[in-house]
Amino acid sequence: MDTDGEDRGGSARYRAVVTPGFEQGPIRPPSEARSLLVRVVRNCPWNKCAFCPVYKRRKPSSRPTEDVLADVDAMAAAEEEIRRGAWAAGRGDDVVAGFRRARRDGAVPDEAAQVALFLVAGGRSAFLQDADPCAVPAAKLAEIVRRVRERFGGLERVTTYARASTLAKRSAEDLRMVAEAGLTRVHVGLESGSDEVLERVKKGATAAQQIAAGRKALGAGFELCFYVMPGLGGRDGSGEHVRGTAEVIRAVAEAAPAERPLVVRLRTTAVAAGVPLWEEQEAGRFELPDDVETAREIRDLLERVGDTRLVLVSDHSLNLLPELEGDLPGDGERLIGVVDEFLALPEEERAAFAMGRRIGAYWTLADRGDPARRAAVEHAVGALGARTAQEILAAAAELRSRFV
Ligand code: SF4
Repeated sequence: MDTDGEDRGGSARYRAVVTPGFEQGPIRPPSEARSLLVRVVRNCPWNKCAFCPVYKRRKPSSRPTEDVLADVDAMAAAEEEIRRGAWAAGRGDDVVAGFRRARRDGAVPDEAAQVALFLVAGGRSAFLQDADPCAVPAAKLAEIVRRVRERFGGLERVTTYARASTLAKRSAEDLRMVAEAGLTRVHVGLESGSDEVLERVKKGATAAQQIAAGRKALGAGFELCFYVMPGLGGRDGSGEHVRGTAEVIRAVAEAAPAERPLVVRLRTTAVAAGVPLWEEQEAGRFELPDDVETAREIRDLLERVGDTRLVLVSDHSLNLLPELEGDLPGDGERLIGVVDEFLALPEEERAAFAMGRRIGAYWTLADRGDPARRAAVEHAVGALGARTAQEILAAAAELRSRFV
């Protein structure tokens, strides 16, 4: 369908083409915030993880191949229209202006905002949704990946979430087929490498499956990213959580080729109201470690992975220390030093820093030296009416859980 585009402020008249809508899933990893989002399956076929609020009460389903391919085509059409909108607005390389114009003219659907974000970021990455696209037949997934690559020629990476139990069941040939079609990276929610903790949070995977999944993914040629959740073992299971997680990381990292080291991303545990882990917490059977205890846990993990070669990333908003990024083992001492710097602060300063992170006033430890940021934190702590460092830490932990 065509619609007349007005020419307010633009240098050329144009006829806006109304492009079709497409589906978008609810989440993507932080590193894929500006990726093209392609919904291959809906929701989560497992849906039992005790800490996860995302798909509860939503039914999983696999989308017909032709619907997913049509979505990819619709996104490509939206891209074209956004670019035409930019030219019509007289700002040929301004994606934002192009999107605004195309939206105003009713040419692109609301969800094309993600296409615009993707274009602003250079159009280099796509992410397949929702929780476990690798559960669909390999030939179907490969066809979808090929279409994405065909329609968006500038892509440098195409990534997806994958459950460890799914990858562990996949044949090496199937995984290679998908890798050859152009899927470059899998994000796996490891969460913990301890069987005890995995069982307790109903992850539906064992440490042995995680190791098999990780090695298979690397063997097929994918980049592999493990999400680890500091704090997930609770206060009582912290040591076991660290021990098992370090073991799985070491076992998988040693199978990674030099050019594709294992990437470990931290995603600190938070307990959203209503999830099964929250019920455990309310019943007194789970205690969420505070930020100081979590920092000690991360320090233990860094020590236990020792000389393992991996890339550590701390890009989740729930993390206390975004500075914990680097290449191990080379950066190991520096990273432990960052944790130690935090742990060496006086008790009240540690609590204030935790609160500062949760209210968005602090990013790095050095931000404590900024008078305006410090004043904002002092104001927030004062408004709490909390008297002790422990009370401030407890309030910060509660704020963390409200982020989810
Ligand atoms: S597998 Fe992932 S999406 Fe599914 S319930 Fe667990 S954490 Fe949530």
